[in-house]
Amino acid sequence: MPILNRIAEFHAEMTEWRRDLHAHPELGFEEHRTSDFVAAKLRDFGIEVHQGLAGTGVIGVLKSGGSGPAIGLRADMDALPIQEKGDHPHRSQNAGKMHACGHDGHTTMLLGAAKYLAETRNFDGTVHFIFQPAEEGLGGGEKMVQEGMFEQFDCKTVWGMHNWPGLPVGEFAVAPGPMMAARDNFEITIQGRGAHAAMPHQGVDPVVVGAQIVLALQTITSRNLDPQEALVVSVTQFHAGDAFNVIPDSIVLRGTCRVFNPKIQETLEDRIRQIADGVCAAFGASATLNYMKGYPATVNDASQAEVAAKVAERVAGQGRVDRNPKPAMGAEDFSYMLNERPGAYIWAGNGDTAGVHHPEYDFNDELLTHGASYWATLVETQLSK
Ligand SMILES: [Zn+2]
Ligand SMILES: [Zn+2]
Repeated sequence: MPILNRIAEFHAEMTEWRRDLHAHPELGFEEHRTSDFVAAKLRDFGIEVHQGLAGTGVIGVLKSGGSGPAIGLRADMDALPIQEKGDHPHRSQNAGKMHACGHDGHTTMLLGAAKYLAETRNFDGTVHFIFQPAEEGLGGGEKMVQEGMFEQFDCKTVWGMHNWPGLPVGEFAVAPGPMMAARDNFEITIQGRGAHAAMPHQGVDPVVVGAQIVLALQTITSRNLDPQEALVVSVTQFHAGDAFNVIPDSIVLRGTCRVFNPKIQETLEDRIRQIADGVCAAFGASATLNYMKGYPATVNDASQAEVAAKVAERVAGQGRVDRNPKPAMGAEDFSYMLNERPGAYIWAGNGDTAGVHHPEYDFNDELLTHGASYWATLVETQLSK
């Protein structure tokens, strides 16, 4: 079974919604217009609407049949602080803001599925359409979970989808286990003792100490980690001093860690602290570590990943679903929902477009019917009558 015919019939309408959203991008937790747009559409379709979770979040509730279970389908709504470079007619009208990750398309595909499901109701159970704010770094998904989303709108399983540039339109990719990495940031302040650069023996040079720490941090990946595992520890900022002839009093290092395995993520803060404290002690300096835990890894439940792959195969056809994609080192806050309920996160091909977060990126409207058909087929198979 390919794309659902009824969904293909409103491709033009979905394209209009998508381009309207693209022209009016809003940053995380500021998605007021988008939230109202989504709520109005859902109400039009005859779907019960709840606004206000995590501020601009929207939940649509659609029940059909008797006592079937409930599932959650999630889309994200926020844009990025990027100046768009594309010159298509639907380019961003908001300076410095842009739908450069395709969340305009994600929102539209879920709306398309909602319209179809409200019309056909060929399922038994409850669908929760979850439109979350602030996926890009601000943790809107985490906030919805913290504010009791699953208590208010219980779901047996929860499902996510992201467009994927480089994967042909009409193809999908999904695997059991990790799909996206966890992301933690860290900041190390090294307190030395400032001195005249010509009299270094009178001070404790935090620049030299910082350089040793940057090198020592590389050993977390190369010497502490099982070589079969994946981990990135990158020092991305080294802020020190203002003058040619002054050894500064203190310096600041900042960086980021990316990892798939939650057990390894748990050890990172301690290992970074040991290195910073130990190296500082060796040189008579002291370290303060500010470790900022970010999104956990997005890890697919094995049996739900299989369900997602089978559904995608029904939509895309045999041989058009990659069941063994390499996980990506980017992070995704759908992980907070997947940590609460089993489910799977799938990539849908966006074709040969600029990559996500690129100023020339644009969501591929050809994908709309494929993605919406995936959602609808997932509901009709998971909540089959
Ligand atoms: Zn993004
Ligand atoms: Zn995204």
